[in-house]
Amino acid sequence: MQKQQELYRGKAKTVFHTDDENKLILHFRNDTSAFDGEKIEQLDRKGEVNNKFNHFIMSKLEEAGIKTQVESLISDTESLVKKLDMIPVECVVRNFAAGSMCRRLGVEEGIELSPPTFEFFLKNDALHDPMVNEYHIESFGWADQAQIAEMKRLTFSVNKVLSELFDKGGMLLVDFKLEFGVDVNGDIVLGDEFTPDGCRLWDKETRKKLDKDRFRQGLGSVVESYIEVASRIGLTL
Ligand code: ADP
Ligand code: UDP
Repeated sequence: MQKQQELYRGKAKTVFHTDDENKLILHFRNDTSAFDGEKIEQLDRKGEVNNKFNHFIMSKLEEAGIKTQVESLISDTESLVKKLDMIPVECVVRNFAAGSMCRRLGVEEGIELSPPTFEFFLKNDALHDPMVNEYHIESFGWADQAQIAEMKRLTFSVNKVLSELFDKGGMLLVDFKLEFGVDVNGDIVLGDEFTPDGCRLWDKETRKKLDKDRFRQGLGSVVESYIEVASRIGLTL
């Protein structure tokens, strides 16, 4: 497999074509961004940590029967993945209130949500990723009804598998964001990444934040916390 020209440079990853038209390389950079790219810093080792973390989680999800982009780890900071036609929406499940939900609804951080709640956001930095509903997604042709239902089903399946995994490591999976795409067979497949950059994880006992909120809120020890999360779920980095 040969790395070819750059397809897209995002805020944290660069995507490359390969000599296989159905495969891409995701290069995880050290860039860390928050507030729609307003705050950007380079954090030592973050690219490597997130690349390996993402591969570990996606492999666990595959084992649980969830279709993901995962092919193989090809270097410390690069993964080979299935090329997907990405659906431009973010799927968020929340088990506890935090982040934008607290600002939007005026609810207190940390309230347990029973049942867990689900939100869609449009992937659009210029518009600050506005919340959208299923009618918007269908009316604008971003996905059809069956694809919407499948994204929700898969996101809740991921929530079940990963809530258990993090619970065993003494952590609460507070919320997370997933992105899906369509593969060559027309199936909905989990793409992008699952790392502490795109979820919230708190220590179960102390509720210490172990995710990207450490960066957003200037709490320090960002990559160190990601490494601690990894070690608590059985991945030594
Ligand atoms: P952003 O675009 O939000 O700045 P990144 O820096 O993470 O985010 O860029 C990665 C880009 O690659 C995203 O736009 C994402 O939708 C896209 N992507 C992720 N996985 C795949 C995949 N398997 N196939 C095609 N595109 C993908
Ligand atoms: N999230 C993400 N990318 C985004 C927006 C949100 O990965 O562009 C993740 C975020 O890390 C959190 C969850 O999705 O785990 C819910 O985010 P929220 O809506 O609370 O927004 P935030 O306050 O984190 O910007």
